Amino acid sequence: MRKLKLVVIISLLTTTIGAQGPSRFHPGFNLFSKQQDVQLGQEAANQVRQKMHVINDPVLTEYVNRVGKRLASTPEARDSGFPFTFEVVADPSINAFALPGGPMFINTGLLKAVDSEAELAGVMGHEMSHVILRHGTNQASKAQLFQLPAALAGVAGGGSMLGQLAQIGVGLGANSVLLKFSRNAESQADLMGSHIMAESGYNPLELARFFETLEAKNGSRGLQFFSDHPNPGNRERAIEEEVDKMGGRRNYTYQTGEFQRMKQVVAGIREPPPRQQQRGYGRGPDDDRERYPDPGRYPDNRYPDDQY
Ligand SMILES: [Zn+2]
Repeated sequence: MRKLKLVVIISLLTTTIGAQGPSRFHPGFNLFSKQQDVQLGQEAANQVRQKMHVINDPVLTEYVNRVGKRLASTPEARDSGFPFTFEVVADPSINAFALPGGPMFINTGLLKAVDSEAELAGVMGHEMSHVILRHGTNQASKAQLFQLPAALAGVAGGGSMLGQLAQIGVGLGANSVLLKFSRNAESQADLMGSHIMAESGYNPLELARFFETLEAKNGSRGLQFFSDHPNPGNRERAIEEEVDKMGGRRNYTYQTGEFQRMKQVVAGIREPPPRQQQRGYGRGPDDDRERYPDPGRYPDNRYPDDQY
């Protein structure tokens, strides 16, 4: 009996030792090719640019690109081969989103809410992981297993991907299957995001801390971010465990040095009011054009006070 116990203990120890090293994730089942992820994302990004107010401020654009490119140069991001891009949109909700194949949009509300560059890098690394692991098109593939092959074949001749997908009910509207993820996908994005942060020189625990702060301030249900990215449970703890698997805590010292400047600029930007329960560009075909002033009318990105 004692011998058996010893064997059990030894095998448990071996399993624990064997489990060291960062978790490895791979994209799941997918009917889209990677090139089709890219095409879909680019078409969808054009739609976002028409429906949301993209900020063309040189300080903000350069800032998110510096952070984003640093994250994109880490092994997991680079090996994916996806062409990541980073844009800021005027939206007060604390959120960011990435489309299949790489286009990422960061809300001014998120830039205003973060207390450190590492927190922002954490959210961006999380979004980037959804792209790398192809969660959007994976979900669409599972949801439209039978209709999707014909729809994708219809694009092969050079048509619009969004147009074909719309015919089988896959779009970018509210609660889109392409952008609202499962808890399992969330858990993967948290952990891969923590690798990307660490490899970029940002402390991954800052992502866990950011989630904690958001929940403490707003409750886990009150935020659009948690609606799009549901809490897989114990997400802070899971990130801490992943940090240990990566070989423990190191000195994470990277900073662009531009965080304060970014905060000053973003503080001066006025956004349209928060949307209720729905994703900004997905509320319907035309309904937000009237509420968003033509971007060209306000070249300094400030909305007039009386408008909102
Ligand atoms: Zn997520």
